[in-house]
Amino acid sequence: MAKRARRPGTIGELRASGYQPVSIKEEMRRNLLAALRRREPIFPGIIGYEDTVIPQVENAILSGQDIIFLGERGQAKSRIMRQMVRLLDEVVPVIRGCEINDDPLAPICRACRDRVAAEGDTVPVDWLPREERYGEKLATPDISIADLIGDVDPIKVAEGRYLSDELAIHYGLIPRTNRGIFCINELPDLAERLQVGLFNLMEERDVQIRGYRIRLPLDILLVASANPEDYTNRGRIITPLKDRFGAQARTHYPTSIEDEVRIMEMEHRRFGQEGPEVFTPPYMKEIIAEFTHQARKSPDINQRSGVSVRISIANYETIMSNAVRRAVTLGEPLAVPRITDLPHIYASTASKIELEGFEDAREGKIISDLLRKAVTLVFNRYYRVAELEPLVAQFTGNFSVEVSDMMPASSYVRNAKEIAGLLDATKVVADSERPEVLASAAEFVLEGLHVNKRLNKTRQDGQTIYRGQP
Ligand SMILES: [Zn+2]
Repeated sequence: MAKRARRPGTIGELRASGYQPVSIKEEMRRNLLAALRRREPIFPGIIGYEDTVIPQVENAILSGQDIIFLGERGQAKSRIMRQMVRLLDEVVPVIRGCEINDDPLAPICRACRDRVAAEGDTVPVDWLPREERYGEKLATPDISIADLIGDVDPIKVAEGRYLSDELAIHYGLIPRTNRGIFCINELPDLAERLQVGLFNLMEERDVQIRGYRIRLPLDILLVASANPEDYTNRGRIITPLKDRFGAQARTHYPTSIEDEVRIMEMEHRRFGQEGPEVFTPPYMKEIIAEFTHQARKSPDINQRSGVSVRISIANYETIMSNAVRRAVTLGEPLAVPRITDLPHIYASTASKIELEGFEDAREGKIISDLLRKAVTLVFNRYYRVAELEPLVAQFTGNFSVEVSDMMPASSYVRNAKEIAGLLDATKVVADSERPEVLASAAEFVLEGLHVNKRLNKTRQDGQTIYRGQP
């Protein structure tokens, strides 16, 4: 590792080191170019945006433009915004004690300018890590100019200081993020007078506080997020502020089931070693992802607020947990989610979607219809129903198979041996002899035949019973 020289500790040392002030936009552009040259991922862990959102964001940074992200909930907007911090220098010099991170060689606040005039090169310098150069705020109706920009300090006023003197300002969030990235989430919810204040601050570099005009030439990358419909609604954002954003990046949900599954695998909550081993077969993950994709197309669900990737993640956690609960209750060593675990996702879905209309009673039906569609699509990717006809033919008379989410895997293995062809059919999706894996695959086959209208299904006392067609 290269030996790092001691960082300058005063303005004099800083100047002697050859340091030159740069704006945040120049700094980010320089660091982005370097990362691109090294072919280093700028937004690690962001899946499915490689050809869409990320190039837009990179172009905005190369252009020095403020950015607004338009997208529904759960589209990684906040994560991208926070990861932009990676494009800042590891540390930057600031005047020690300055409330707004003044550059030691180009201070803007009155206190620092007075101090530099009085103490010159001996003024001490601190080094601010990049993590501390990021601020964000959710726009809500109760935010005030004081919160966001600043207020006149009544104590300092009482001391007789001239009101428009910057010494009398109590700085708000944005000035405190000077030389950093400031994000406003759900920008259209910001009150109009705050939008005006924000615009003045960014464009005119001065701002009115309690009727006093105060000059505040901040250096900030402004980033915002908004729901696309709110953003395009006339009057939700004042036109000059809208024009101020040089770039719009439209985010989106994962376009493929594979991306949805990758995100689920990466984001689900993990626990320590406590509990049984868990194995989730690919088809179960795909059903969860497909369920979400179908929900995003459903006219019964409010698409304006969206169907977040967080639904996939939560449902994935739910089926794994139900499998763990079963394994522990039955004393089985391996937890493998299966079809009878799926009804449990009602709990993790219902809180995260909004239905069109007010008929909450329909919720259960909507969710089960979507599940059925998801199972059908995934099953028919693995199987051709025609090839399973010999299996279906055995379901005659009173012959039936019972399954349930609390039935031991050994019962399934016995069943599978009674039905010729079922074991072979499970091998299409299961390459393990472990009973828990077989049990899950056997249920998948039976349910697949049911959703393809080759077997009847009834529910009774917590049991699912598959029978032949009458
Ligand atoms: Zn200062």
